[in-house]
Amino acid sequence: MAQIAQVLVDVPTMQTNDPYSYAIPDQLADQLQPGMRVTVPFGHRVVSGVVVGFTTSTQYEGQLKSIRAVLDLAPVLNPELQQLADWLAQTTYAFRITCIQTMLPNLLKASVERQIVPTNELTATERAVYFPDGAARDFDTSKLDTDTVAGLLKLRRAGKVTVTYQVKDKASVKTTPGITTSLAPQQLEDLKQSVATRAPKQAALLTYLQALPDHPVPQAKVAHAAGVSSAVIRGAETKGWLKRTPLEVYRDPFQQPVKPTTPLRLNAEQQAAVDAITTAVTQRQAKNFLVEGVTGSGKTEVYLQSIAVALQQGRSALMLVPEIALTPQMTNRVKARFGQRVAVLHSGLSKGEQYDEWRRIDRGEATVVVGARSAVFAPIQHLGLIIMDEEHESSYKQDENPRYHARDVALWRGKYHDCPVVLGSATPSLETRARAAKGLYTRLVLAHRINDRPLPTVHIIDMRAELKQHQGDDDFSAPLLTAIQDRLDRHEQVVLMLNRRGFSSFMMCRDCGFVLKCPNCDISLTYHVNPRVMKCHYCGHEEAVPTVCPNCRSRKIRYYGTGTQKVETALQKLLPTARILRMDVDSTRRKGAHEKLLNQFGQHDADILLGTQMIAKGLDFPNVTLVGVLNADTALGLPDFRASERTFQLLTQVSGRAGRAEKPGEVYIQTFNPDHYAIQLARTQDYERFFVTEMHMRHQGNYPPYYYAIQLTASHEDESVAAKAMYQILAAVKQGLSDQAIILGPTPKAIARVKRKYYYQVVIKYKHEPHLKAVLDQIRQGSQRAPRGLAVAIDAEPMNFM
Ligand code: ADP
Ligand code: ZN
Ligand code: ZN
Repeated sequence: MAQIAQVLVDVPTMQTNDPYSYAIPDQLADQLQPGMRVTVPFGHRVVSGVVVGFTTSTQYEGQLKSIRAVLDLAPVLNPELQQLADWLAQTTYAFRITCIQTMLPNLLKASVERQIVPTNELTATERAVYFPDGAARDFDTSKLDTDTVAGLLKLRRAGKVTVTYQVKDKASVKTTPGITTSLAPQQLEDLKQSVATRAPKQAALLTYLQALPDHPVPQAKVAHAAGVSSAVIRGAETKGWLKRTPLEVYRDPFQQPVKPTTPLRLNAEQQAAVDAITTAVTQRQAKNFLVEGVTGSGKTEVYLQSIAVALQQGRSALMLVPEIALTPQMTNRVKARFGQRVAVLHSGLSKGEQYDEWRRIDRGEATVVVGARSAVFAPIQHLGLIIMDEEHESSYKQDENPRYHARDVALWRGKYHDCPVVLGSATPSLETRARAAKGLYTRLVLAHRINDRPLPTVHIIDMRAELKQHQGDDDFSAPLLTAIQDRLDRHEQVVLMLNRRGFSSFMMCRDCGFVLKCPNCDISLTYHVNPRVMKCHYCGHEEAVPTVCPNCRSRKIRYYGTGTQKVETALQKLLPTARILRMDVDSTRRKGAHEKLLNQFGQHDADILLGTQMIAKGLDFPNVTLVGVLNADTALGLPDFRASERTFQLLTQVSGRAGRAEKPGEVYIQTFNPDHYAIQLARTQDYERFFVTEMHMRHQGNYPPYYYAIQLTASHEDESVAAKAMYQILAAVKQGLSDQAIILGPTPKAIARVKRKYYYQVVIKYKHEPHLKAVLDQIRQGSQRAPRGLAVAIDAEPMNFM
């Protein structure tokens, strides 16, 4: 019986988790494997898809269509990742094909290029209009104007042009010329004798070629070793002395060599943690750990030494860090210990670099993988250990389909490979800490800083009182300024953090109160100094900075609030001699800018590092003795039940940047809510007290981790369409829910209009709802038939409620 391939097709508007059946052409019968990408006819189109299995029978009555082409020589998804994709689709309410695409590096995401080919049926005029240079042309609707598209479609219906499909995967492998020779050493020797006196360079090359190994040698290496130019090599090629063939090379994302380090002598707490973890590694137990260690307690050393044990046993390791903490400082620490075995995956790499790292992992050449969220899908085999640093970070959750949390994926892979998963943080998420309390994770506590260095002394500055006394500046209290000046005098360094969450500098008219807002979104535009422009941080809309109020024509329009640029200017005025480095989204946009700024600061080319949240994580600078938080509480007022948790985490993390070496550290936290428990407990870095207090609040409010949560969102350009859809969805959901479930909404989202769309949401909190999954699956399927422009999102355990 002929085999039938089951193919998940990639058609955005007609997705389904059920594969379609396709006949396998005879030539491919023994070559096709699950996990390979193919192109298949679908309706009147040819689309790409992934083979997920084989069968011998099908319900389909008619004549099966055949697979058109195979796009891969080997499966791009191994059996583990195929299973993982299925699980992901089930738990995140995404489609299987979406999950598979998320797992693949960008370069591998099949994009089918369509080409329109002229036939002899075309009239001379048509040919002149549509094919001026006579050749086939790309059919890219995004680049062609509508008239041309319409004209081409008409020609196609008339059979005057044909369409071909090509996959643009060509440039994916980087090559360099490699040198081989098919001449025998004696032939080369004879040639050498004949040129010896008049062409010494050629003779040198021939001498080198006599000792050439069997495999191709990079041309650059040959040129260098033989001391000849590439012109000489090209000349030798035309004479037939050597051949040049493309040689596959990796793009190396590590520009600078890293100095190797050796393991440090662990203290007792670190040793106990490493022992517990490596016992599980050695015994191949899928046991999970929570490493709860204060900032500066040496968690990274625990990770590194545990990884070393996994490697010794011939296994590999995966280390996840938040994108924001994936600094060169961090990756270099891993590189310094494990050298060439390390692959790094992050969004700063070019597509080509990502693909190269991915292949090194896939081939088993890289056995330690460091990366941000999506690295959790790296095709690592023989996993012996998974580590997730800063496990509380919300960036581990993806906020588009599939809305997965890397922690859940890590735990799944740990089970699959029978290997331990280590979650580490100074401020674990409430969910994780609660699971540890239930015994699901083994808690490993590092309560002390390395060498018993004290935690920094934290001062809380009441900005209400400060502003009343009119001491200092709007942004800087008198005590903080004094402390900064003191550090400048002592040649020590300062880190200042401006909390940008829920905060921006906006234009307001002091006469009529008019605020300049984005025409597309429902939020105020942010004032930028360089270039001087008003900008929407949600959709990117830009406009000129107004000089008169657009509403009342008053000239008293000015910007309010604080941006990093404004603070930098103000601070420079207050402290004219201070050397300030600013680190925010704007100053780090260029590739390598982040690294450059940190290097400058590390070499003490600056006294003050002023930045947004991105400076709170992972930085380890021994000369930093003062940390200032300019606005601790802007995030406290956000309509999100995690506001306190996020504030506590951020303050604890940033405070941890001070006093990491011999000199003791000091922290100043400026706030308008000095008595709030999140701020008070951050002062003492008392995570355990915070955990107990916050759990109590969550219990009272019926929030996670006491309840599970599902967020449903409908969005549309027309507000009434979005609202109506949300009410319909809610009606459907209610039928599947018991009266134990709590429903919030429908409500417009806190930021109701983003990128010209209105958002309505419902949040369901529940403990045990056996029918909910089936109802949500139906909603997912139904959303395919939704009116044009309506998008419905299902988010299990959402991280963002705004
Ligand atoms: P954490 O990640 O817990 O904040 P780190 O891993 O960054 O802490 O460690 C803080 C500092 O202590 C680093 O500079 C690190 O090199 C150093 N360190 C870690 N473990 C030891 C040890 N056993 N002996 C000496 N120094 C250590
Ligand atoms: Zn006005
Ligand atoms: Zn906008």
